Amino acid sequence: MYDTIIIGAGPAGMTAALYAARSNLKVALLERGVPGGQMNNTADIENYPGYGHISGPELAEKMFEPLEALGVEHLFGLVQKIEDHGSFKKIFTEDESFESKTLILATGANHRHLEVPGEAEYNSRGVSYCAVCDGAFFRDEDLLVVGGGDSAVEEAIFLTRFAKSVTIVHRRDELRAQKVLQDRALANEKIHFIWDSVVEEIKGDQGRVNTVVLKNVKSGQVSQHDFGGVFIYVGLDPVSDFVKDLDIRDEAGWIITDQQMATSVSGIYAIGDVRQKDLRQITTAVGDGALAGQAVYKYITEH
Ligand code: FAD
Ligand code: NAP
Repeated sequence: MYDTIIIGAGPAGMTAALYAARSNLKVALLERGVPGGQMNNTADIENYPGYGHISGPELAEKMFEPLEALGVEHLFGLVQKIEDHGSFKKIFTEDESFESKTLILATGANHRHLEVPGEAEYNSRGVSYCAVCDGAFFRDEDLLVVGGGDSAVEEAIFLTRFAKSVTIVHRRDELRAQKVLQDRALANEKIHFIWDSVVEEIKGDQGRVNTVVLKNVKSGQVSQHDFGGVFIYVGLDPVSDFVKDLDIRDEAGWIITDQQMATSVSGIYAIGDVRQKDLRQITTAVGDGALAGQAVYKYITEH
């Protein structure tokens, strides 16, 4: 029986593990893949205080490294269901189960799909959701980036290291991204914009993307464009289906908590991107993690 099991080793989960372990609790960090979460998919982090500029995988490594010495157990598995038994919680992965007095849900968010014809067909054959993973395969290509948020603009800038040109297509005429990123993209000669437009279809030849069909949402005009690759950054969906029976989510699936990160189920906490919140960033994820690490310590002491 663990004092707490943290599901998800992104920045939120790793920080919760650090705080809980430093309170001498018996802690396990349960992760389905490589520790680091979404940080592993970004090359440049410039807004995490204290580091100036650091790559996502490097920051992930720095967060993970101290945990073993603090006694945090690293468990591997994809959590599929959890059960609340009052004084303890039961967690089920594909082939194992674990018991813990408390649970911290830190499963983050997944990229959203466009759901247009050709997107699934050309996935990994010109369609990508990760510039850091795939950018280098698109040297000297004309690329399309879909979306107007921080991810789209930041990753478009990153792609100019490899691409001949990068076009950002956005469904409105104003970006959602932070001003500093907007200014950098607008000043980049390799970056072009197509406003008020959405992707209608992704087409290809010989198994690879070569054309994207766009529709102007104001005029209704449809046009075809030559692109060798499409990077899609149209937002995130919470990874929370595995708690659907617990009634702790809003209509969109984000988990609702109070200021101590507690859900409405006693002993179950949620932190980071999976939580209903205004700002999804590494800084806010680690802040949530610290609060939850402290909250489980109080919960265990009081019960
Ligand atoms: P995540 O990082 O999503 O981690 C969740 C973890 O849970 C993952 O490791 C996942 O494998 C694991 N998991 C999920 N489901 C299960 C399951 N069922 N069982 C077991 N494990 C599971 N923020 C910034 O502050 N600065 C930036 O520069 C920045 N750049 C970004 C660039 C991109 C391209 C993206 C996509 C995001 C960026 N962000 C940035 C946002 C930031 O990465 C997230 O806000 C942050 O990673 C959220 O942390 P988290 O721990 O809540 O979740
Ligand atoms: P986001 O902020 O939700 O932005 C999604 C973008 O995609 C929006 O511009 C949205 O348009 C557009 N969009 C949504 N659905 C669409 C569709 N079906 N077709 C076309 N366009 C669509 O998502 P994100 O950019 O992935 O960022 C997620 C979180 O990570 C945010 O909290 C962000 O701040 C954070 N992040 C931070 C950094 C950083 O700090 N440097 C970097 C990356 C990500 P509208 O604008 O019209 O809604």
